[in-house]
Amino acid sequence: AKQDGRNCFGYFSPDMNNNMLARITLEQSLRSAVLQHEFCLHYQPIVDTSSGEGVALEALLRWRHPQRGLVPPDEFIPIAEETGLIEPIGEWVIQQALRDLRQCHSQGIMINMAINVSGRQLAHGDPSHFACMLNGLLQKYDVAPQYVHIEITESILMADTELSLKALTAIRHLGVEIYLDDFGTGYSSLSYLKQFPISVIKIDKSFVDNMLEDRADANLIKAIITMGQSLDMRLVAEGVESEPQRSFLQGLGCDFVQGYLVAKPMPLKELEPLLRRIVRE
Ligand code: C2E
Ligand code: CA
Ligand code: CA
Ligand code: CA
Repeated sequence: AKQDGRNCFGYFSPDMNNNMLARITLEQSLRSAVLQHEFCLHYQPIVDTSSGEGVALEALLRWRHPQRGLVPPDEFIPIAEETGLIEPIGEWVIQQALRDLRQCHSQGIMINMAINVSGRQLAHGDPSHFACMLNGLLQKYDVAPQYVHIEITESILMADTELSLKALTAIRHLGVEIYLDDFGTGYSSLSYLKQFPISVIKIDKSFVDNMLEDRADANLIKAIITMGQSLDMRLVAEGVESEPQRSFLQGLGCDFVQGYLVAKPMPLKELEPLLRRIVRE
C-alpha cells in the first residue's frame, strides 16, 4: 500500500504540473491565435513521378507565434482537436487555401489543391455539415470543385463508419476528390477501404524512408501500389527526398511523388517560380 501511495504521489510531480501548465498556456494562446490571425499556410507540390509535372499543392498549416516563432502543426493540432478549436482553424485553412488557389488559377497556374481535414471537422450530428460549408466556400472563392482534394486519415474511417461514409459521400458528390493520407500506419485493409469514395492513397513517409535498404518496406510499398491499382485508386508517395527513391517508385508504377526532392513546403510567393516551370498551362 505504501508503494502504491508513493506511485500515486509521484503522479503529481512538479514535472507533471509543468506539463499541465504548458498545455493550458498553449490552449490559451491557441485561442488568441485564431482571433489574432497568427496562422499561415505553406504549400508543397505533388508531381507526376515520371514527367515531374506539378499536379497539386498540399496546404500545410503553420502558426507564427509572437514569442516562439514558427510552431509546427504536430505541436498544436492535437490540442486544437481536443478543444474543438480545430473547427474555426480548419475553416480558416480552407478559406485561405481556396483564396490562394484562386490566385494561382488567375495567373494561369492550373493546379489542384489538397487540404488536410481532421476527423473532428467531419464528425457532426449532420453528416452533410462539412460538405455544405465547403460548397459555400467553393462558391465564395469561385473555385471549381474538381480542383480541390480533401486529405483524411484512416482513423476517421475507423471511428464511425456509417457517419464518415455519409460525410465523405456528401463531399464526393460536390465533385471534390478524397485522398487517404498516411496509408499503412493504421489497421485498415484495402478491401475495407473499398466501400469509401477514395480516389487517391498517400503512402506514408515512414515506408518510403527505408524502402531502398529494407526489403520488407519495399515489399509493403509494392503491395500497397498493386492493391491500390486493382481498386482503381491512384498513388502518391510522401517524403521522397532522393532521386534513387523517385526512380524506384517510378519502376513500381507509383503515379505521384511529394517531398523535399521536389520542394520543401513554403509560402506560395516563394513557390511561384517553380510552379511556372512544372505546371502545364
Ligand atoms: P501530413 O499530412 O502527413 O503532411 C506531410 C508532412 O511531411 C508535412 O509536415 C511535410 O512538411 C512533411 N514532409 C513532406 N515532404 C517531406 C520530406 O521529403 N522529408 C521530410 N522529413 N518531411 C517531409 P508538417 O507540415 O509538419 O505537417 C505535419 C502534419 O500536421 C501533417 O502531416 C498533417 O497531419 C498535419 N497538418 C498540417 N496542416 C494541417 C491542416 O491544415 N489541418 C489538419 N487537420 N492537419 C494538418
Ligand atoms: Ca496530408
Ligand atoms: Ca501524409
Ligand atoms: Ca505522414
